[in-house]
Amino acid sequence: MNAANSGIGMTSQRTRMRMVERLRGQGIRDEIILAAMGEVPRHIFVDEALASRAYEDMSLPLGFGQTISSPYTVARMLELLRSGGVLEKVLEIGTGCGYQAAVLSRLAREVYSVERLAPLLTKARRHLRDARAHNVRVRNADGNLGMPEQAPFDGIIVAAAAMHVPQALRDQLAMGGKLVIPLTHHGKQALHVIEKTAQGYVDRKVEVANFVPLLPGLG
Ligand code: SAH
Repeated sequence: MNAANSGIGMTSQRTRMRMVERLRGQGIRDEIILAAMGEVPRHIFVDEALASRAYEDMSLPLGFGQTISSPYTVARMLELLRSGGVLEKVLEIGTGCGYQAAVLSRLAREVYSVERLAPLLTKARRHLRDARAHNVRVRNADGNLGMPEQAPFDGIIVAAAAMHVPQALRDQLAMGGKLVIPLTHHGKQALHVIEKTAQGYVDRKVEVANFVPLLPGLG
């Protein structure tokens, strides 16, 4: 174990537990998610200079104009994705630093994650290895296309705001599967949950959101 995750000071297990209690206070109820977030060392996913702020309720810069979502946002999106059910195979669009993928690795059997910026992915791979998230496969690709060769997924989570739901992501949902995606409409963002049912797709708008934009192509 290296110094960064030896559990001292502002990055200790106790700090993580305080974050979990705060999430409870903010209304997160899914114990499986709270347990996973209590285990994943969020500080190893951010630059060393920011490590002491990793457990605060805020998004943090990752470089290249991108941000790691706040603990509440990650917890809320995962709660919507899981809805108390079992996740076998999930896809994340926007790996960023890999933190959300690492939490997902404790909730699902297989995790696939796509990132358009190659330099971010290089770091994410290292972070995921350090966090021992061995069931996560990452790829440098345009997430608008999903990952057709691994489909269908019983959950797809998009960590960047789209103008509309990419058709490929809808198509790659398993029956009963859920897509959690922030959508921008008239300049305002909201988190949506789209479920594939036997009667078609059911779209539910959940709450306001604040994400970086989902961009086309590779960076
Ligand atoms: N889940 C991440 C947060 C990612 S921020 C974490 O835990 O750190 C959103 C990410 O989406 C950024 O890294 C951005 O580069 C990426 N992104 C934006 N558009 C994309 C696209 N079309 N395909 C793949 N990744 C994309």
